[in-house]
Amino acid sequence: MSDERAAKRVAKFIKPLRVKPGSTVDLTEDFDPRYRAGVKKRDGVELLRTGVSLLADHQARLAAQDTYGVLLCLQAIDAGGKDGTIRHVMSGVNPQGVRVSSFKVPSAEELDHDYLWRYAQRLPSRGEIGIFNRSHYEEVLVVRVHPENLDRQKLPEDAKGPDVWQRRYREINDWERYLTDNGIKVVKVFLNLSKEEQRLRFLKRIDRPEKNWKFSAADVRERAHWDDYQEAFSEMLSATSTPWAPWYVVPADRKWFARICAAAVLAHTLIGIDPQYPSLDGQARKELLDARRGLEAEAP
Ligand code: AMP
Ligand code: MG
Repeated sequence: MSDERAAKRVAKFIKPLRVKPGSTVDLTEDFDPRYRAGVKKRDGVELLRTGVSLLADHQARLAAQDTYGVLLCLQAIDAGGKDGTIRHVMSGVNPQGVRVSSFKVPSAEELDHDYLWRYAQRLPSRGEIGIFNRSHYEEVLVVRVHPENLDRQKLPEDAKGPDVWQRRYREINDWERYLTDNGIKVVKVFLNLSKEEQRLRFLKRIDRPEKNWKFSAADVRERAHWDDYQEAFSEMLSATSTPWAPWYVVPADRKWFARICAAAVLAHTLIGIDPQYPSLDGQARKELLDARRGLEAEAP
């Protein structure tokens, strides 16, 4: 497939997943976790391969050009499939060019800083792809659903009023715009899982010994807050899907389809950057040719 055809195919594929900036999202109404764009599982293998090979090729050029970085933010409810998505999507790329950061309950040191501090520390450099497994969006998700997290953040009194979430949306949008303007492209994927599929995945984690480590009793306690999370997700998607960093809502009930979508979203971002291998100026080319002559002259 030609590059241009592949690029068009990817763009068309991800269009229905994009949250239109300025639109109001009701996650349960607007996005179906079982949507699969008419793709059959057996065709999915080929699609994922196309996506992964596009990624590999573009990543090499991104690294050589050393001008842009890419930050992929992955958000999902528990058992949404973040880990598996990362494993599959990055399967074909050079590990030297990728940095994965997972964000857990903040440490004492992290709580002693402003809330974006720990995320800023893990940003990709130019030429790199950074993946946030959970991200700064937890600051308007888990922190919102469980406000005791906000109390732990040691904020001044006037910074935790009722407008705190609206303010955080604005600050996050501004921060992402700043990053984009400075060459760090932000791409955001929300894995949209249904409540029933979460139940089934939890059961698997309980029943299969090799999956036990993935399960904790806290996961079931969080599940009791399902509706609060859906509401927080909907508000977040509505407020922070921007022209410079739109959200993509990926149907997550079928793991194989979610992986194709995530690869396609990342590939689309890289295609948009269109990184190029640096070309040599006259002086550098002359030095190269001189070096070549020297090496040839050494031939036994
Ligand atoms: P896991 O991704 O399953 O390893 O779990 C990480 C845990 O850290 C989840 O329960 C998140 O809700 C929690 N977490 C992540 N970021 C934050 C945050 N900013 N404040 C509080 N809890 C967080
Ligand atoms: Mg977990």
